[in-house]
Amino acid sequence: MGKGDSAPTSPTKPAQAVQTAANEAKNKVQAQVKKAVQDTTENTKVCTIPGFGACGLVNLGNTCYINSALQCISYFPLLRSYLLSGEYKTTGDLNKDNPLGTEGWLLEEFVELLRFMWSSKAGEKSPTRLRQVIAKLKPDVFAGADQQDAQELLSYVLDALMEDSNRVRKKPYVEGLEDDWVKNNGLYRVGEEAWRRERRRSRSIVTDVITGQTLSTTTCPVCNYSSQKFDPFNLLSVPLPTKTQSASGSAGMPLGKCLTEFCKIQKLENDEGDTHWRCPRCKDFRPGAKQNLVLWRLPDILTIHMKRFRSSQKWREKITTKVNFPLTGLDMKEWCHKESPVVHQTESGESYVYDLIGVLNHYGGMTGGHYVATCKATPSAMAKAQRESAEPLWLQFDDEVVEPIAPKSVISESAYVLFYRRRRLTPANVARYSSLE
Ligand SMILES: [Zn+2]
Repeated sequence: MGKGDSAPTSPTKPAQAVQTAANEAKNKVQAQVKKAVQDTTENTKVCTIPGFGACGLVNLGNTCYINSALQCISYFPLLRSYLLSGEYKTTGDLNKDNPLGTEGWLLEEFVELLRFMWSSKAGEKSPTRLRQVIAKLKPDVFAGADQQDAQELLSYVLDALMEDSNRVRKKPYVEGLEDDWVKNNGLYRVGEEAWRRERRRSRSIVTDVITGQTLSTTTCPVCNYSSQKFDPFNLLSVPLPTKTQSASGSAGMPLGKCLTEFCKIQKLENDEGDTHWRCPRCKDFRPGAKQNLVLWRLPDILTIHMKRFRSSQKWREKITTKVNFPLTGLDMKEWCHKESPVVHQTESGESYVYDLIGVLNHYGGMTGGHYVATCKATPSAMAKAQRESAEPLWLQFDDEVVEPIAPKSVISESAYVLFYRRRRLTPANVARYSSLE
């Protein structure tokens, strides 16, 4: 899930040139980050408030991609309270025998770090142990000293947390849905059945909070047969329509455009024009098959990854288009199938309305870039009592430096991954909230 396009890593260049370019990029990035903080109107008494999670993470050498992703995850409500409560130990959710997990290693190290970050000690912390664990678990990608794609790390950590807390002890073999059965049943029923089968292999608090479902329809160019398939997602990777890049200029393009582009009918082909889709009726591979996607089930925490990095064998580029995304009130109904549970449940207008809780930003270009997290502080009851105003407080996490940031500065062309929280949580999660918070 959430396969990364390409990581913003450095190509091979003479060492000195790389150093100079990296320094230039670093200075530029620091100036940008600094400016964002200067725009703020809030004062800086944040770190004196306990339980805010306003804890910086020390950069251990090009680890801003790890730090910023971890900060964003630590601001997932429910997931954090679940991990901090230690409930996973008493309920037996901690799964050390899952071959797809990390033997509980990553989950337990992450909880260790979270405990410090959300304690009244605040200040800063070197995430040395967790960094080592990540490097050992996935040495081919995350062991080196190079910058990696924060979205890839984010997906990896979420998947690992999901498997480490998977209540399914022995994953059963679950067959895919037969095309004939799909044809003979209503979409709603098929979607529910696909979800039920998915849950037979994966039942975890992480799934409860972040997993949704898409519906894809693929049409055979030869016999016109169309086949429908439901798939789970933890993160939506949406394209940035580049044709409008110059037209939209500095005003930016609305996030809705990216979501619409994501749902658009497209040819199922890679760069070489190959397709591996096999028509269930012709029983043959059909190049030129077309597919369209639509959202079916939406999670309480919706993660939207904007595909800013594009690459082919010959070139690499970062799309720098500014995307205008709402801080509050993102209504997702428009991109959902009309027969989906989402649309079924929209008896109340707020059902699938989302508010922003975090942004993972990437500053700079393909080389020497820098990651910074911006999160909406959700104060604990104690901190809430200490704060007079109910105004949301946005915090910027630039490695070890934590500073408040003006809400208007949260939206910028550096936004790379967006995290939204459903305003009206699913009833099951509401029940959990009340026991944990
Ligand atoms: Zn066919």
